[in-house]
Amino acid sequence: MNNEKRFRLALLDLDGTLWRDGVVIPGAPAFVERLRRQGVQPVFFTNNSSRTPDEVVAVLAKCAIQAAANEVCTTAQAAAHVLQQRLYKGASVMYVGRDGVRTALLEADFMVRRAQGDALGEAWLQDVDAVVVGMDQRVTYLDLAVVARVIARLGWFVLTNPDVRLPVEDGFLPGNGAQGALLSTATGVSPIVTGKPDPSFIDFALQRYQVSREETVIIGDNLYTDILAGQQASVHSIMVRSGVVFPPADDAPIPDETVDSVDVLFRNEAVN
Ligand SMILES: [Mg+2]
Repeated sequence: MNNEKRFRLALLDLDGTLWRDGVVIPGAPAFVERLRRQGVQPVFFTNNSSRTPDEVVAVLAKCAIQAAANEVCTTAQAAAHVLQQRLYKGASVMYVGRDGVRTALLEADFMVRRAQGDALGEAWLQDVDAVVVGMDQRVTYLDLAVVARVIARLGWFVLTNPDVRLPVEDGFLPGNGAQGALLSTATGVSPIVTGKPDPSFIDFALQRYQVSREETVIIGDNLYTDILAGQQASVHSIMVRSGVVFPPADDAPIPDETVDSVDVLFRNEAVN
C-alpha cells in the first residue's frame, strides 16, 4: 500500500503492531520513517494508560523507533481531556493507575490523589470531584472500596480503557475493563470510556493533531479494539497479522485492509 489516499495521520497501535512482547516487529522502524518521509504524522496510539509519553518514547527507542513525546497519544491523556470538559481547573481527582494517569492529570492542572484503602471513611473523600480508573497491579480490595464509594456519590467515573483481558505470554491477566466491571457492579454506575474501541479516543486524536477523518488511518492487530474503533469513528482501518490474532467471530468488525505486518505498508515512495 502507498499513500495514494493522501493520509496525513497514522494512528499506530503498539503491542502486536510495532513490537510484540517487547521485541520490535521486523520492518517497523523503517515503516515509521517512511510515514514521515511521505508527510504522514505517526501517532503512537495506545490503550495502555500506565506509561507516560516519555516512557513510551523510551520503549520505542529500544525498538529503534524514533518518536517524540508529543507524538504519543494515551488513554490517560484522553481521560484528562474528558475531565477538562466537565470540571473546573484545579478540581480534585482520585485515580487508580500508574504514572501515565498521574502525569496526564497533573498536566491538565488537576489536584490528584491515588486511591488508597486507608482513606476509607475519611471526610476529605467528600471533596473529590472525579474518579479516573486505569490499570495498576498494586491495587488492593480496600483501594477499590474507597473508589467505589466515591463513584457511588458522584454518579460517574472515567475508565481509561475497556480491555477485559491483557494478553501475556502464558495466557491472560484481567484487564482494566474487568476492574471497571467490578466498580460498575458495586455502584450501578457505567463508566465514560476513553480507550479503543470507543471512537472518542480517535476523535480526541483528530482534535489534538487537527486532521480530518478522511486524512486518517488506524493500524493495529486487534479487530475488537483497533479496527472497531476505526469503524465506529469512520476512519480507514488496516489490520496487521503480526500480533495476537483472535479467531474472528461471525460479527467481527471487517478492516478496510489486512496485511501481514507494517513492513509492507506505505512502500511506494514515489507517490508523494
Ligand atoms: Mg495491539
